[in-house]
Amino acid sequence: MNFKIPLSKPDISELEAKAVGEVLKTSRLSLGPNVVEFEKRLAQLAQVSYAVATNSGTAALHLIIRALNIAPGDEVITTPFSFISSSNCFVYEKAKPVFVDIDEKTFNIDTTKIEKAITPKTKVILAVDVFGLPADWENLERIAKKHSLFLIEDSAEAIGAEYKGRKCGSFGNAAIFSFYPNKQITTGEGGVILTNDKKIADYCRSSVNQGRKLEGEEWLWHERLGYNYRLNEMSSALGIAQLKRFSEIMEKRDRTAQFYLDFLKDEPALELPDPLHSWFVFVVKLERKLGGEKRDQIISYMAEKGIQCRPYFYPIHLQPFYRNEFGFNEGDFPVCEDIAGRTIALPFFGDLQREEIEFVSKNLKEAVRL
Ligand SMILES: *Cc1c(COP(=O)(O)O)cnc(C)c1O
Repeated sequence: MNFKIPLSKPDISELEAKAVGEVLKTSRLSLGPNVVEFEKRLAQLAQVSYAVATNSGTAALHLIIRALNIAPGDEVITTPFSFISSSNCFVYEKAKPVFVDIDEKTFNIDTTKIEKAITPKTKVILAVDVFGLPADWENLERIAKKHSLFLIEDSAEAIGAEYKGRKCGSFGNAAIFSFYPNKQITTGEGGVILTNDKKIADYCRSSVNQGRKLEGEEWLWHERLGYNYRLNEMSSALGIAQLKRFSEIMEKRDRTAQFYLDFLKDEPALELPDPLHSWFVFVVKLERKLGGEKRDQIISYMAEKGIQCRPYFYPIHLQPFYRNEFGFNEGDFPVCEDIAGRTIALPFFGDLQREEIEFVSKNLKEAVRL
């Protein structure tokens, strides 16, 4: 289906086109100066010591799991309300997902329920800054410390966000961003590992590059089981250009969000998000009686008008693989399931025009009345 107003669109200007074009004129398409500079700028943005670029956010999460030696049978406490890779990353290593239900206001993991889920096999708490809203890092840090657990921040959706004066991407033992095209900034495909721990950084730097030694040595000599998770030079140059425009991009996204908040503020059937530092998506929550099938009808109504909306997210524990592999069922995480049944992501990007936002809002108000 071709939508008049798509769900998302990357914010690409001439600066990006030129930067990528410049790389193509050189013969250095991988392992060149652009990835080095991109990493340096990302470490500055998140205020951490080390950044290792990867070719996806998923790859970045996987390497952190490997760096922490998570092994088969280990348990990882995480949220069921997220994009699938925040769980897949440790299931790759045969660790077991232990989901903890979410807070119905913030949609983030409910830290008051974490300690009950800890067992002798628990190794890690992996929390997600869902939709750009930071998780409850103060309590997450306290609980991780008290129980000697590793802590990972999946900040794929919160580039540039802050929590109590600290930057998202700086919490826990290590964190990630993603640069998939629907994220705040993009490299086409890409991600980054962010950490203050030199051991984790060194492991990741070698492992993105086939397990090679960090310097010296033969090109075809591999000291550990590595991967090809490298970010190429074109993507890195694109990322640098996006970071140069970072405040402009974020201001445009904020402007879009403010229009929505204004156009939709009087609609009693909707609960709107609180203002954010870093808007990833614009997700509205329908009143309970509009959940489930009604929600899907609202999305179809919008689609007929050429407006792309989406349920955001389906609970991870109810995804086919997770049900089959781990035996999760409906009712396991009732808050998550309730929220997942009545949230809708509206078209959201910086170049969305005022009239388009008004058009989406008007149609949404009609849809909830039907
Ligand atoms: C986008 C995203 C990722 C990583 O996605 P990639 O497409 O692999 O870059 C991980 N976690 C969350 C919560 C995400 O939204």
